[in-house]
Amino acid sequence: MAGVIRRLDETVVNRIAAGEIIQRPANAIKEMMENCLDAKATSIQITVKEGGLKLILIQDNGTGIRKDDMEIVCERFTTSKLQSFEDLSSIATYGFRGEALASVSHVAHVTITTKTADAKCAYRASYCDGKLKAPPKPCAGNQGTLISVEDLFYNVSTRRKALKSPSEEYSRIIEVVSRYAIHNSGKGFSVKKQGEMVADVKTLQNASVLDNIRAVFGVAVSRELIEVECEDQKLAFKMKGYISNANYSVKKCILILFINHRLVESSALKKAIETVYTAYLPKNTHPFLYLSLEIAPQNIDVNVHPTKHEVHFLHEDSIIESVQKHIESKLLGSNSSRTYFTQTLLPGLSVSTSASKASADSQERVYAHQMVRTDSKVQKLDAFLQPSTSSSAAQSRSDKASSSSTAAQGSAEPDDSELLTAPDDIEDPQTDSQPPPDEAPPRKRPHVEEVKEDLTATSVPRRRVIKLTSIKELREDIEQHTHKGLHDLLQNHSFVGSVNPQWTLVQHQTKLYLLNTTKLSQELFYQILIYDFGNFGVLRLSNPAPLYDLAMLALDSEESGWTEEDGPKEGLAQYIVDFLKQKAVMLEEYFSLEIDEEGNLTGLPMLLDDYTPVMEGLPTFILRLATEVNWDQEKECFHDFSIECSHFYSIRKQYTLEPDAEEPQGAEMSWQWKVEHVIFKALRTLFSPPKHFSEDGSVLQIASLPELYKVFERC
Ligand code: ADP
Ligand code: MG
Repeated sequence: MAGVIRRLDETVVNRIAAGEIIQRPANAIKEMMENCLDAKATSIQITVKEGGLKLILIQDNGTGIRKDDMEIVCERFTTSKLQSFEDLSSIATYGFRGEALASVSHVAHVTITTKTADAKCAYRASYCDGKLKAPPKPCAGNQGTLISVEDLFYNVSTRRKALKSPSEEYSRIIEVVSRYAIHNSGKGFSVKKQGEMVADVKTLQNASVLDNIRAVFGVAVSRELIEVECEDQKLAFKMKGYISNANYSVKKCILILFINHRLVESSALKKAIETVYTAYLPKNTHPFLYLSLEIAPQNIDVNVHPTKHEVHFLHEDSIIESVQKHIESKLLGSNSSRTYFTQTLLPGLSVSTSASKASADSQERVYAHQMVRTDSKVQKLDAFLQPSTSSSAAQSRSDKASSSSTAAQGSAEPDDSELLTAPDDIEDPQTDSQPPPDEAPPRKRPHVEEVKEDLTATSVPRRRVIKLTSIKELREDIEQHTHKGLHDLLQNHSFVGSVNPQWTLVQHQTKLYLLNTTKLSQELFYQILIYDFGNFGVLRLSNPAPLYDLAMLALDSEESGWTEEDGPKEGLAQYIVDFLKQKAVMLEEYFSLEIDEEGNLTGLPMLLDDYTPVMEGLPTFILRLATEVNWDQEKECFHDFSIECSHFYSIRKQYTLEPDAEEPQGAEMSWQWKVEHVIFKALRTLFSPPKHFSEDGSVLQIASLPELYKVFERC
């Protein structure tokens, strides 16, 4: 059966409307507080009983209400703030719908006592359901308005039951009043329970926003705040406020947001801000922010419902982004102080501790710009994990090199010249790294005698002593031209990294150097060829390489500079093969470069453990042996051969192998690995850097800590 439609009683309609606006005591107080501020009050005192449910008293010192207006002040849609619809776009007050007082009067007993500046006395009137109960009565009173709201929701039992406890309601009142208090610096606010002497919120008229934040939230947060302020004319908005820095965090985000002086919420803005802070705060902690946005009134929805806290406005995304950026920039600026602050708190890591330790050791003060944080003696572990198949040979080389470099101070190791009388019964000296006897029959060695060195190791290496004057002179040349400073640098450097095959970075004390790996490695191999002359192991080629083919390859390459005038390549190639075959005995004897009867290259000297030259350079090496070496003079011959050979062995940009990912040992085949673990390890111990390296750009100092400090001091 269809129900009969009846018009609702007007008081019922108003009560429903009132319930929509005034949902709890805190709403009522907010509305009334805004009226006080609209009335230019500078002091707003609030007293409540039972969380505002029993009684709300709100006293201000504003303009007051004219006696004539008292009759309609509690009727719906009565307002002194708006006259025409056009006013809506420029209105700058809190309320203008004229609904607040009317609503309250529909759900509570309202009494207003008010006095304007020009009135002789105050007037008091009580209201019920928006209507004046009796004509206003004159009474005593100060300028301003006192509104009393009693028995809120006395006539809406469902609403009353839905409310939380009085204490819960009271804390909501405290929250809303304190936020308005913070925003309205220059105005005094207070909230207290009736009968109490001390206010729970109290701000003073001459206090600043920061003072008010301190009064409400305490000193812990107020001292960690950064002031923010920005403006964007295009988006027609201004923002100012205070935000907590990276030192401060709370369990729950506190965002006090006022838009056009109205306390609102914007979940979009809150989210944007929290995103910024996640980079700065510990996990699951949040910031404190007080932000006041002023947006051109025409860009904001003026018809916002009094209970509608969540606001939206024109250009919302752009404005939020702009605010977000500003906050980020402010946080970034404040972050450096935090890093410093927390670092000094780390136990045992403070700068002063390490400085005092250093001074205890060296008896003198070490300044920050002199501090070196690497120890060149500390090598990476993998430097010690190399298979050391012919370590004895390397060891003897090492001894040799160190003796040569310290020759001036007198070496404990006997010089070759002192060991010339060797017993005749010593067998083939090339033990460890030599091929089996059936592959390489021993040959007669002119000018070479064999000795057993006085070494205590169980596997005693037998080293041939070289008596040749030419070699002695070449060694002396190296020693005489050693650069002491560079020698020290290379002995005590810390490997930083390879820039490319040609350039490597190393650190020595407070300085960073760029070293020409190509030049250094070539000189290193040259010195090895001279010092280990006649004592090399052999790198046996898996397939003998025909010298003819190698020579042809070289002649075909542009590098050879071959022209028609040089005659046919084939003839030249054959000449090279025949020529080198003539030298085979000597080459094998002194340099372990093996050429067989058929003119095939079968072995190359092993100059360093775990190091093989890149074979792409082999054809050119063979060609140059025939064309660039002075074979007629002994000293020149050994020198030139060593130069060509060291060139072939050096690390060169155009001949670098990238590691083969397929092979398990791929990484060890890479030039990077060779440079770090073979070349620079050898440069540390086996090398006497020549003086010209300090002048020809082979060693460049690119940074110095003390100089860097000077630069930073200037910034
Ligand atoms: P609105 O604020 O939207 O105008 P209200 O119902 O809140 O409507 O208030 C109605 C009118 O009562 C206001 O326009 C204002 O003129 C007057 N009024 C209310 N409270 C005060 C006050 N504390 N001081 C002076 N005038 C007040
Ligand atoms: Mg109002």
